[in-house]
Amino acid sequence: MRLRLVLGDQLNLKHSWFNEKDESTLYVLYELHQETNYVVHHIQKIVAFFSAMRSFALELQNQGHQVLYYDINSNASKKSLEDNIKDLVREKGIEKFEYQLPDEYRLDKQLKSICKNINIPSKSFDTEHFLTTREELKSFFEGKKQLIMEFFYRYMRKKYDLLMVQGQPLGGQWNFDKNNRKKWKGNPAIPLPYRTKNQGNELVYESIVKVGVKFIGTYDAKNYLYPASREEALEQLDYFCQNLLIYFGDFQDAMHTKERNLFHSRISFALNTKILHPMEVMEAVILYYEKNQERIALSQVEGFIRQILGWREYMRGIYWLEMPDYKGYNRLENFNQLPDFYWTGKTKMNCLKESITDSLETAYAHHIQRLMITGNFALLIQSHPDEVDAWYLGIYADAVEWVQLPNTRGMSQWADGGVVATKPYVSSGSYINKMSNYCEGCHYDQNKRTGENACPFNSLYWNFLAEKKEFFRKNNRMAMMLRLLDKIPSLEMEAIKNRALSIIQNPDDF
Ligand SMILES: Cc1cc2nc3c(=O)[nH]c(=O)nc-3n(C[C@H](O)[C@H](O)[C@H](O)COP(=O)(O)OP(=O)(O)OC[C@H]3O[C@@H](n4cnc5c(N)ncnc54)[C@H](O)[C@@H]3O)c2cc1C
Ligand code: SF4
Repeated sequence: MRLRLVLGDQLNLKHSWFNEKDESTLYVLYELHQETNYVVHHIQKIVAFFSAMRSFALELQNQGHQVLYYDINSNASKKSLEDNIKDLVREKGIEKFEYQLPDEYRLDKQLKSICKNINIPSKSFDTEHFLTTREELKSFFEGKKQLIMEFFYRYMRKKYDLLMVQGQPLGGQWNFDKNNRKKWKGNPAIPLPYRTKNQGNELVYESIVKVGVKFIGTYDAKNYLYPASREEALEQLDYFCQNLLIYFGDFQDAMHTKERNLFHSRISFALNTKILHPMEVMEAVILYYEKNQERIALSQVEGFIRQILGWREYMRGIYWLEMPDYKGYNRLENFNQLPDFYWTGKTKMNCLKESITDSLETAYAHHIQRLMITGNFALLIQSHPDEVDAWYLGIYADAVEWVQLPNTRGMSQWADGGVVATKPYVSSGSYINKMSNYCEGCHYDQNKRTGENACPFNSLYWNFLAEKKEFFRKNNRMAMMLRLLDKIPSLEMEAIKNRALSIIQNPDDF
């Protein structure tokens, strides 16, 4: 008998493993405390993973495969993965162990060690999910000083011949990023997000609560938007093409108090669990565009393709290039704690209150909320990257370490010293005001740098540049900001620093 392990983020029904039914192959899936406890996760993230795993296992059984499923109430769930595999090898007389390569370094190590310890032959398989190998980014950038995403993206466009005409980019331009920076002011109307059937989620939720798994955030069916099956994920993709793609690029960076989703796809959970393949997502989007060119502009589509073909594969490449050291980087030497309000949303700073409340209620925030609100503030108050990582890894339903870590520690916190981003993504309140309506309802005045009601982002921003300027002395992209910093009169700078210090010391008072 052969045992094949399927991990919770390997729910790829199209994997070649499942092409043939075989009496002598046993598939196994576990809901493990080991996985619910390595960080405190959002309750909706756990519900989403377990619901998707249960639905996947059922589908495999319906197709005639032999499947063992251990849920969170089982005795197995309390044991480690290694002990469970050993138990099965013994009880079922397993002669061969097979698994798909995990995407997390932690599990990769664990599985290699399990294979050594079970004393039967073992074999690993590709997940058949990504569009690059683990090493491809490394060889692409061999000998280059900087790992610029744009060059990698162009290579990927050529490699897969996506949005290309005779070797040239469709529309004569690789990148329409400049078109993607519109503020949303109430128009055009935003369709409601795609709703899943939510079948069986209450039961999953109750079982998690019953066994006492620690979690953050809330579970409420009306806010729950994660697909459990391939069928639902395909519906979600279709919904995106039909309703949201039309303005995806334009409002990609916008934020609004009344609109959590704007025109985002929310497809990250289905992608990261491998329910959907990135190529089928991109092909569906491009096909829809080709049939609807009279109403959908190329810039909307290119913006979307860049995220999946470019950023997503790039982040994975960075992860495998830089791990395990990456997890320890703290190049800006930040050591503060995250404020308590990251777990409650209770703060007078409206942008943070809105973005954190969205996250706690839905296990989702879109990219700019993650980068320019919560990430920006965490960096400006000089939080320890370990704290920031744990928060991001826990709170979002799409958070799996290979993609969360380079986004958080790299892009957002610049703790890698510039591997991912050429300069840190920090801003004062003016950027937030430009891209959202958050400042309109805020206790603070976005125009002020000092004084009782001055926007905290303003003093924190200049204080951050002043405190960290030595790290950026040789960085051309920071030169203009550092010149502006030098022009601030010393008395005003002193007031800015004092206000910043009071925020850094007691962020929960603001
Ligand atoms: C601090 C921080 C942490 C993040 N953590 C995660 C994470 O744990 N998991 C995750 O999937 N994404 C993460 N991202 C990237 C991005 O924010 C999410 O992929 C996106 O918000 C998911 O929502 P969506 O599906 O509606 O995306 P859309 O805006 O509709 O974009 C489409 C798809 O593009 C891909 N994508 C877009 N940006 C990125 C990116 N920077 N890196 C990788 N893929 C990208 C995603 O698969 C996404 O589903 C993080 C970003 C930041 C700044
Ligand atoms: S004024 Fe400052 S704190 Fe308030 S919403 Fe705007 S940027 Fe955020």
